[in-house]
Amino acid sequence: MRRGPHIAGLFRDGPHLKSLGYKLNSPFADERQRGFRGLRFSAFVEDEFRASYAKSNAFRARLVMVTAAATILILIGARLTEPGFSKIMVAFELFIMLPCLAATLYTSYLPGRHRLFEFLLTSSALLLGLMITSIVTRAALLGMHYYFAACVAWLFAVWLMLGLPLRHAAFAALATSATYVWGTFYWDFTPAEAFFELAMLALVNATGIVCCYQLERASRKSFLESRVLGELADQDGLTGLNNRRSFDRQLDRLWRQSRREQTQLTLLLVDIDHFKDYNDHYGHQAGDDALKRVAEVIGLAAQRPLDIAARFGGEEFALLLYGPANEYGREIPGHIRRTVQELKIPHRQSSTHPYLTVSVGVSISVPEAERSMNGVIQLADEALYQAKEDGRNKVVVKESINATMQTGRFRVASRRAAVG
Ligand code: GH3
Ligand code: MG
Ligand code: MG
Repeated sequence: MRRGPHIAGLFRDGPHLKSLGYKLNSPFADERQRGFRGLRFSAFVEDEFRASYAKSNAFRARLVMVTAAATILILIGARLTEPGFSKIMVAFELFIMLPCLAATLYTSYLPGRHRLFEFLLTSSALLLGLMITSIVTRAALLGMHYYFAACVAWLFAVWLMLGLPLRHAAFAALATSATYVWGTFYWDFTPAEAFFELAMLALVNATGIVCCYQLERASRKSFLESRVLGELADQDGLTGLNNRRSFDRQLDRLWRQSRREQTQLTLLLVDIDHFKDYNDHYGHQAGDDALKRVAEVIGLAAQRPLDIAARFGGEEFALLLYGPANEYGREIPGHIRRTVQELKIPHRQSSTHPYLTVSVGVSISVPEAERSMNGVIQLADEALYQAKEDGRNKVVVKESINATMQTGRFRVASRRAAVG
């Protein structure tokens, strides 16, 4: 096989492997290990967290939105019965407040729109804050200072009920408070009244900041921990690749996806040659180390987002390449075989080669509705068996020919790759 320019240099032994981007640790584990400062993760992890945070707080936010909408409707009803009611205020509530609350409520049900939901929720929080401030300051002018409690209650809701990230909550709560402060000067509150209310606002906001910060920080911590635990459950303990359970689950998903999209699936089964003899001669610990080094080569080959590298069992690995079996995909098996050999792991007991080698069985197929996913594995397994039969340290490719396939089985064309 000829080396394609795009994968030349992908596989190198020694220290290069790590620097080429293949990492056993997950970004969640990295983030956790680094010990995040402030309230921000790196880009991709941050986005996943925000989606999960919005989802887990959506119920409380909806509750507040519905209660606020109901209150506004009652307010509008009450205003309409007053002679000379403020048309501007009713129009603001009807055409700005209610649509904003409705949009927030609606977006809270849309998957993947958590950023928009955050934006609308912050806007709703601010608009409601401004509305409450305007009502409360006007009530204070009429001597009803106890309305101020509504302002305090709303600020607590913004900090603690809506589930907004700290920055967003701070924007809505502090802007609301600033408007209130401005109101006390504009309407000329007496210094005694203004002092008490401003002190209360400062106290509420200080409490809100501390509690909101701690809530978000605790949520971030438990988010990372649950992701890391989830990944650990899917990982093979020795090699860090996907374990069999995770591989089967992902294969099932990709099988259905490729059936819908009529895309090819390329499955490689990679088995170490004479590994029992290696263990017997060099010991189990050396065997484990060799397994890890071979696993690095396989993991490195899973370059695209939908590719999956897994430890299939014992000293056997699986690599699923999703997408058309183009030149890149067809060169991978040969490169894996060659790279393992070039690791130059001595294997004196091998009758095949002085160094550790692998045999690779490859199946290339387009999944069909009436055939099971197991057909893909079975085909690769047959190819691997043939590679072993042919003397090991070989690649055998079997392609299912869709046009002539018989029901329930793959009719196949097989091809043996030259060694070297
Ligand atoms: P072949 O070339 O036909 O594949 O021969 P083989 O010896 O590699 O195959 P066989 O299935 O007979 O032996 C597989 C060996 O892999 C047996 C077992 O000791 C070893 N093995 C499986 N899992 C592990 C592991 O986690 N660590 C170590 N060190 N060895 C393992
Ligand atoms: Mg073996
Ligand atoms: Mg085996």
